[in-house]
Amino acid sequence: MEKEARIYVAGHRGMVGSAIVRQLRQNGFTNLLLRTREELDLTRQTDVEAFFRDRRPDYVFLAAARVGGIHANRTYPADFIYNNLAIQTNVIDAASRYGVRKLLFLGSSCIYPRESPQPIKEEYLLAGPLEETNQWYAVAKIAGLMMVQAYRRQYGFHGISLMPTNLYGPGDNFDLATSHVLPALLRKFHDAAAEGRPEVTVWGSGRPRREFLYVDDLAEAAVFLMEEYDAEEIVNVGAGKDISIAELAELIAETTGYQGRIVYDTSMPDGTPRKLLDISRLTALGWKPRTSLREGIRKTYEWFLSEAEPPERRRSGAGSLF
Ligand code: GDP
Repeated sequence: MEKEARIYVAGHRGMVGSAIVRQLRQNGFTNLLLRTREELDLTRQTDVEAFFRDRRPDYVFLAAARVGGIHANRTYPADFIYNNLAIQTNVIDAASRYGVRKLLFLGSSCIYPRESPQPIKEEYLLAGPLEETNQWYAVAKIAGLMMVQAYRRQYGFHGISLMPTNLYGPGDNFDLATSHVLPALLRKFHDAAAEGRPEVTVWGSGRPRREFLYVDDLAEAAVFLMEEYDAEEIVNVGAGKDISIAELAELIAETTGYQGRIVYDTSMPDGTPRKLLDISRLTALGWKPRTSLREGIRKTYEWFLSEAEPPERRRSGAGSLF
């Protein structure tokens, strides 16, 4: 990509999109096209076409999507399938028809079959039944991956697709009811330390293993692949190693300065015992993750302290409003 190329980052206010914008700016790309949802509703086909016709982006990072945890997926299946299908269909088709030179689409590790052998290779996609709770989201995302491939075959469109593992970092969701484990534990341990509580409850047995990738590493991989990769096959993007939930809890306790007990609530579900991507395709292309989990958690906690917590609730914040 030339430094002056017009680059459209769809979804730039989300955790992934904002990390891609940071990465592009850091690499000296200045001509970024950004539109909030209020300015451009990506589910409206005519609006999306008008945007592409008028602004003519050269490159597109498609990081706009309806995402959420198990509860949201179960409660709003129609929203998940409709919004994701509409957004990606409109953007990919308009990009192909209005001269976009390359588009990067984001899938997700959670759309692989539920019983995939570990670590998960790219060819396991569609090799078995999906996880039932997020099947609506998964079917939409799989349609997006296949649409990118179909447009390459029929029109020679340069679309590529990434499969990120569990991501965390600045901009994450710290709401205990809907968040994933890493931000949930940051909030739980932070609150317990702030309030001097003697005990934090972690769900499940602590034994399941998960892989976590710092979102800025994903953004770096996305820009790298946009520049270096141009083929039909999807590419996993992960940390290459996993960690048990108990080890994660220890690490987060350390980061937040929590010194009390950690207890496990085994009445809560463990979920799948292990989730790890095989990243050999990506490393063979010449990229590997840079941020250690310890470092990534520290940076995420710093962001949490400065952004997610309203000032009146911060630990050091004297003069609480409540
Ligand atoms: P998953 O990767 O799809 O299973 O999603 P999660 O990130 O929500 O959960 C990962 C694992 O962390 C599961 O075994 C959870 O039981 C466990 N876990 C432990 N404490 C928490 C918590 O406070 N919130 C969440 N979301 N998961 C937790």
